[in-house]
Amino acid sequence: MNKTASAPSAADFAHVRDWVFDLDNTLYPHHIDLFAQIDRNMTAYVSELLQMDPAEAKILQKKYYHDHGTTLAGLMTHHGVDPNDFLARAHAIDYSALLPDEALGEAIKALPGRKFIFTNGTVAHAEAAARALGILDNFDDIFDIVAAEYQPKPAGITYDKFMSLNRVDTKKAAMFEDLPRNLMVPKALGMKTVLLVPRNLETIVLESWERAENTEPDNIDFVTDDLTGFLERLVS
Ligand SMILES: [Mg+2]
Repeated sequence: MNKTASAPSAADFAHVRDWVFDLDNTLYPHHIDLFAQIDRNMTAYVSELLQMDPAEAKILQKKYYHDHGTTLAGLMTHHGVDPNDFLARAHAIDYSALLPDEALGEAIKALPGRKFIFTNGTVAHAEAAARALGILDNFDDIFDIVAAEYQPKPAGITYDKFMSLNRVDTKKAAMFEDLPRNLMVPKALGMKTVLLVPRNLETIVLESWERAENTEPDNIDFVTDDLTGFLERLVS
């Protein structure tokens, strides 16, 4: 596993002034699986919109996700759906599985510089999740799929929008993500990249990461299953 299994040292991140975090499965653990609820809502939306049974709707939903990067992009292209309506329905979920994470909040707060959430979801979803975790006040801003004009990560143009809007010097920035493909652009831009993996599943997940399409292991500087512990090591 070389460097991916090793702990970071504070020196590795001493130059970092902007800290960029994905939301889902990054700021809260993978096993919480809020996406399962969002996924069900999206399937229900497609089923209702196109009068399909749920099984049929799910197949189409996954095809749009695969072909367009998000279900929404496919629905906008092929069916002219109103993105605000879709996003509100998709994110109408129960956040009670997210509990306040004081240690994570403290670790984020202790980082020097600005902190951002950069999500393929919505601001409302990010705020609800971060508020449930008790960490919302630690972030300077949230960049979402609406700000991205519905072009999700890993689209290069979306990273450009985020970086220029916030005047991020990518040579002095770090990105935390659970999807390897979303770290390709950040690495190419000179950011430090950290991949979040599920707890207790390291071997399985790292194997799938190594096999991930279009993903070079070199895009990932560090791998961790413990965001709080990782951040704490950077400021001590
Ligand atoms: Mg994620």
